[in-house]
Amino acid sequence: MTVELNKRRKRPAWHKLSVGRVRPLTEDSLEVTLAVPPELREAFAFKPGQHITFQRVEDDGSEVRRSYSLASTPRELAEDGTLRLGIKFIPQGSFSAYAKASLAPGDVLEVLPPLGVFCTEPDPARHYGAIVAGSGITPILSIAAAALDAGATVTVLYSNRTGESTMFAEELAELERRHGERFRLHHVRTRSEGASPLLTGRLTPERLREVLAGLVDPAEIDEWFLCGPYEMVLGVKEVLETAGAAEIHTELYYVD
Ligand SMILES: Cc1cc2nc3c(=O)[nH]c(=O)nc-3n(C[C@H](O)[C@H](O)[C@H](O)COP(=O)(O)OP(=O)(O)OC[C@H]3O[C@@H](n4cnc5c(N)ncnc54)[C@H](O)[C@@H]3O)c2cc1C
Repeated sequence: MTVELNKRRKRPAWHKLSVGRVRPLTEDSLEVTLAVPPELREAFAFKPGQHITFQRVEDDGSEVRRSYSLASTPRELAEDGTLRLGIKFIPQGSFSAYAKASLAPGDVLEVLPPLGVFCTEPDPARHYGAIVAGSGITPILSIAAAALDAGATVTVLYSNRTGESTMFAEELAELERRHGERFRLHHVRTRSEGASPLLTGRLTPERLREVLAGLVDPAEIDEWFLCGPYEMVLGVKEVLETAGAAEIHTELYYVD
């Protein structure tokens, strides 16, 4: 038997991708579509839930690197050669402010191929659950679309201030129309009225326990995905663990 001692792992390399489309999603977020040429499709192959990283040199010469989850599915990459992502503007944010002010079709970005373990291989027999806030919906859109296409069931609890500030609302409504009973979407509104008193107000641990008792049976969910601000994700994780959740994946976008 031959043992290869010096087998080196290939380091991911930066590539230049051009922007195909920029579209506002809400007043403070936009969707960016990147074109991936055929020779780079293999390098940019991904699992739903993974993220890419941009690198940009600022006017003062400093280098900025920021990660963004992919909202599109592997099927879109294979069929159309595109990747889609959603960027929410952060006041005084370096990359998001640049994207808001000047990102346009034809621009070329320096991009690191997809990475991350916030993902799964969709299994038609599984019921996936997600609890997210704001831009945390981005990887869930990809996971939900791929899982539903595979025949799985998906439940999403998605918290936003209002309907107008909800990223990817139309795409989620389209998934509901297409997949009916297998896609259960519950919008939580923190600064406007939700569909019921249970879905109105901040998603505190107390509120989540009530939602789990009345609306989403945690015993039905095989695998959970939590994405959003630090405090929300940790609070939700604790409640789910106490409720006996089997498998929980978390992704934190920002730690204060
Ligand atoms: C794995 C991963 C995936 C991500 N995916 C997405 C995605 O799909 N969509 C998306 O919009 N973002 C996503 N992010 C966050 C993104 O990488 C940037 O951190 C975000 O866009 C802010 O970058 P910026 O350069 O605009 O702001 P910075 O220049 O980094 O920050 C400016 C100021 O705002 C504060 N700040 C930074 N982020 C936040 C925040 N979220 N809330 C409040 N204050 C903040 C900073 O502390 C700083 O004071 C992801 C992060 C990770 C780690």
